[in-house]
Amino acid sequence: MKKYKDKIEVVFLDSEHPDIELLYSVIISRYNGKWVLCRHKDRITYEVPGGHIEEGESAYEAAKRELYEETGAVEYTIDKVCIYGVRRPSGINYGALYFAEIKSLGQLPQMEIAEISLFENLPEDLTYPSIQPQLFSYVQGWLNKNNEALKYKAAVFDLDGTLFDHFGAADKALDDIYSSNELYWSKPLEVFKSLNRALHEKYFILYKEGQISWEQQRLLRMKALHSHYKEDIKEEEAREHFRKYLEAYERNWRLFEGALEVLCFLKGSGIKIGMITNGEHSQQMSKLTTGNISGFFESIVISSDVGTAKPDVSIFEISLKELGVEKSDAIFIGDSIIADIQGAKKAGIDSVYIIRNHNKDSAVDFEPDYIIKTLLEIKAIVNKKNQ
Ligand SMILES: [Mg+2]
Repeated sequence: MKKYKDKIEVVFLDSEHPDIELLYSVIISRYNGKWVLCRHKDRITYEVPGGHIEEGESAYEAAKRELYEETGAVEYTIDKVCIYGVRRPSGINYGALYFAEIKSLGQLPQMEIAEISLFENLPEDLTYPSIQPQLFSYVQGWLNKNNEALKYKAAVFDLDGTLFDHFGAADKALDDIYSSNELYWSKPLEVFKSLNRALHEKYFILYKEGQISWEQQRLLRMKALHSHYKEDIKEEEAREHFRKYLEAYERNWRLFEGALEVLCFLKGSGIKIGMITNGEHSQQMSKLTTGNISGFFESIVISSDVGTAKPDVSIFEISLKELGVEKSDAIFIGDSIIADIQGAKKAGIDSVYIIRNHNKDSAVDFEPDYIIKTLLEIKAIVNKKNQ
C-alpha cells in the first residue's frame, strides 16, 4: 500500500498551460488491448515509455520519439491527455501525458531499453510506484470519458471511513499507546481498546449534543480512561495523554485501498470531485493535504466552516452549488447510513453506501442506490448510463 505521508504528490491540469515549462513526455501505451511497459537495461523494474523533452523539441515530438525508442512502435495513434505535475519537497516538475494505441510494433531500437512487456493489469514492480499508477488511472478515466456516456457529472465523497481510514488509524494508535505505557498492561490489549472506544463514543455524543466542548470531550475521555487504571489524573496530565494519542493517530493516517486510483480515474473522466465532511476544519484539511489528495477536489465543504452538518440537506446543497451541478447529476459516497445515505437521499442525490469493517453490522434502513465494498467499484457506477 502507498505510504500515507509520501513525499510525492501528483497533480493533473486538464487544460492547456502555455506558461508551464514541460520537462517530460510520458506515453501510456496499449497494444492488442494490453498495456505496454518497458524495462531499462540497468533496472529490474518496469516503466511507462517516456523521457525528457530535448532542446528545440515539442512535447509531441518528444512523445513520438520516445515511443519509438522505447517500444519500437511503428504504426499508432497518439493523443494528448493532460499535463501532470510531480511535486517533491524540492519543487514541482511538469510533463505532458499522452495515450498511444499501437497498431504495429517493429524491432526495438538498440538503445536504453532491454525489453518491453505486455500487461493486462499494471504490475507491482514499477520504477516510480508513487507516480505511474496515478497516471494510468487518469488515462483509464480519460478513455472512459471518450468511449462511454457518463451517468454522473459529479462525485461527492465523505472523508472519514470512506476515503480516509480513520478507524484503522485510531486502532493502530491504541496499539502504539498500549505498548509504550506499562500502566495499561494490567488489562489485556483488547480490553484497553474497547474501553477507549466506548469512552470516545460516550463523550463524542455529549459533544455533538452541545453539552461539552471539543476540548472537554478529549480531556474527559482521557480522565475516564485513567480512572480504570489508577487514581484520577489532573487536567494537565489528561492533556498530555491526549497529545500522545493524537500523535500516534496522525502517525498512522492512511487512505483506503483504491482511494487514489478512483480519484485519478474520476478526474481523468472529467467528473467533478467534491467532499462533504463532518468535522473540524484544520484536522480535516490536514488529512487531505498529508494524504496528497486535496488537489483533486473542486469543492470541500467542512461542517465546522458552514455551521451545518450531514445529514442536513443544506450542506449537500452548498456542495452542489460549489460544484455547479444539479442534484440529479451528482452521486454521494459515504459509510454512514444516517449522515451520508439518509442525507443524500433527502437532498435528492443518488447515494453509494460503502461497507467497511466498522459498519458492516449497521442496519441499512435507508435504501442506498448502490452498495459497494471497495472504492474501485465506483468506476463502473459512474458509466452506467446505458444499463
Ligand atoms: Mg464517514
